[in-house]
Amino acid sequence: MTSPHSPSAAHPDERLDARLDARLDAVLARLDAAAERAGRDPRGILVLLATKTRSAPEIAGAVRALHSRGRRIAVGENRAQEIATHEDPALAALESELAVPRHFIGRLQRNKARDVVAFASLIHSVDRPEIIDALARRAELADVERDVLVQVNTSGEESKGGFAPDADTIAGAVGRIRAAGALRPVGLMTIGAHTRGETAVRSSLRRLRTLREELADPALVELSMGMSADLEIAVEEGSTIVRLGSAVFGPREV
Ligand SMILES: *Cc1c(COP(=O)(O)O)cnc(C)c1O
Repeated sequence: MTSPHSPSAAHPDERLDARLDARLDAVLARLDAAAERAGRDPRGILVLLATKTRSAPEIAGAVRALHSRGRRIAVGENRAQEIATHEDPALAALESELAVPRHFIGRLQRNKARDVVAFASLIHSVDRPEIIDALARRAELADVERDVLVQVNTSGEESKGGFAPDADTIAGAVGRIRAAGALRPVGLMTIGAHTRGETAVRSSLRRLRTLREELADPALVELSMGMSADLEIAVEEGSTIVRLGSAVFGPREV
């Protein structure tokens, strides 16, 4: 870790590693503190790396560092067009060696359903009926089964995808997923309210948890919620998967 020379003489890769280590320690400390406040085991929470705009070597570095800290990890793709650029042999080998699952978390387009089904074992962003049908058809054609989460628009923000946050609507989506075959509903996903006001963020994230309670469907075990800015609130409200980008990789340029 320490260089025999002054910090400025360190190899560029070492400086990157040191920055990654510092960011990871900081974000995991936030996660652990929130879990402790909520009386939860932080190691039970899956840390999904939101990889949009990052290179395969950056992703591999973060996977290795998280694994060495004993965390459960997934790698999440946000853009179907980016899946191919992350198809790197070294990253693929690392993911398979460490059994890191690959998920899809981005806005889904019908014409990308095949790519997403081929790539992802869990699809977080099933946000409208046409997408259920497109994914089911592609999974059936590929002769695979895929786990999916129902995305819920808990903030009411028009820019966000997702089913309306009422139990009947979500039960309808879950029923449609089951009826389609080839897809298994395993939980709910949301993107918290886009504001610095804690009350609005907490009430949107809490709505995901109370929806799961209202549905009382034992198959719906996962709550995918919490990003870099709101991970503490999400963990306090029962998140089982936090999706982290900038807190791990640093600020995004695009
Ligand atoms: C980018 C993204 C994240 C991670 O966002 P950060 O704020 O960088 O942690 C999580 N979820 C989704 C759906 C995203 O698009």
